[in-house]
Amino acid sequence: MFDIIIIGAGPSGLSVAIESQKNNLNSLIIEKGGIVNSIQNFPAEMSFFSTPELLEIGNLPFTSSQMRPTRVEGLEYYTRVAKYYDLKINYFENVLSVEKINNYFEVKTSKSIYKTANVVLASGYYDNPNRLNINGEELEKVSHYYNEPYKFYQQKVAVIGAKNSAAIAALELFRHGAEVTLIHRQEKLSDSIKYWIKPDLENRIAEGAIKFYSNSIVTEIRKTEIEILQNKKEKIIFENDFVFALIGYHPNISLLENAKVEIDKTIFAPIYNSETYETSLKGFFVAGSIAAGINNNKIFIENGREHGKKIINQIKNQ
Ligand code: NAP
Repeated sequence: MFDIIIIGAGPSGLSVAIESQKNNLNSLIIEKGGIVNSIQNFPAEMSFFSTPELLEIGNLPFTSSQMRPTRVEGLEYYTRVAKYYDLKINYFENVLSVEKINNYFEVKTSKSIYKTANVVLASGYYDNPNRLNINGEELEKVSHYYNEPYKFYQQKVAVIGAKNSAAIAALELFRHGAEVTLIHRQEKLSDSIKYWIKPDLENRIAEGAIKFYSNSIVTEIRKTEIEILQNKKEKIIFENDFVFALIGYHPNISLLENAKVEIDKTIFAPIYNSETYETSLKGFFVAGSIAAGINNNKIFIENGREHGKKIINQIKNQ
């Protein structure tokens, strides 16, 4: 019987485990991949938007030679944190269901069944990319994640979306010799693209180095071409080798639904107390970006790392 089972070994989940350890509570993290799995799957050359001190957890300093640390530095840091605190984490174990039985929870996984007094869901959102739901999206040349540019040298690459992921990928692909077309359903690039990225992209578009179709939706992807509809009326077809549909992500709320936690269906987020992060089901908490549902630009590492203290405070005071 655990005091707390935490689902997800991202920065938020790790910080809940650290807080529980500091308060002599017996916790276990269950993670379906490796440590900080989402960060492992971020683009290879990615730098965080946050400065190092805003990514720190467990009061351990995160040092970097740069203002914005790299993905690799993040991986090194969070791995060291888990080692320093000797956190109990089961890796490559998938949580299948959480069920409240009287005053405890039964957590069924791909490997075992556990009993726990409290559950914290800290599973993030990065595993569930949004879909275009069009013909051709299932083709091998279409990806919802971008990793690195080298394979795409002298290839015709379409990037769909126009916020940070799409902007970064379009620029990196262009700089490594891909012929890039950016397709966006709005008229203008988003204002939420970071200030050190947006002018670069605007200038590449202005000089014609990156082709930009605004007010455009992709209607079909075929083996060697892509079809778009611009301004709701003009059908345009052009040659295409690869597609990156970088159109955002959404959390998987099925564990919450199955456990009968109340959900705000408009944003696919659990209803929870913002002081304690406890959901409508007593003893079931959320931490990190899962709490924001589809509004995943509201909770990120900087603020998600603070949830652990509030959650443990509530559990201690019960
Ligand atoms: P996002 O912010 O959700 O943006 C998604 C983009 O795709 C938007 O331009 C959106 O258009 C478009 N879109 C959504 N559904 C679409 C559809 N069905 N058809 C066509 N276009 C569609 O996703 P993101 O850029 O991947 O960013 C996700 C989160 O990760 C954000 O919080 C971001 O700040 C963060 N991020 C961090 C880093 C970093 O730390 N280095 C790097 C990249 C991203 P609309 O504008 O019309 O909605």
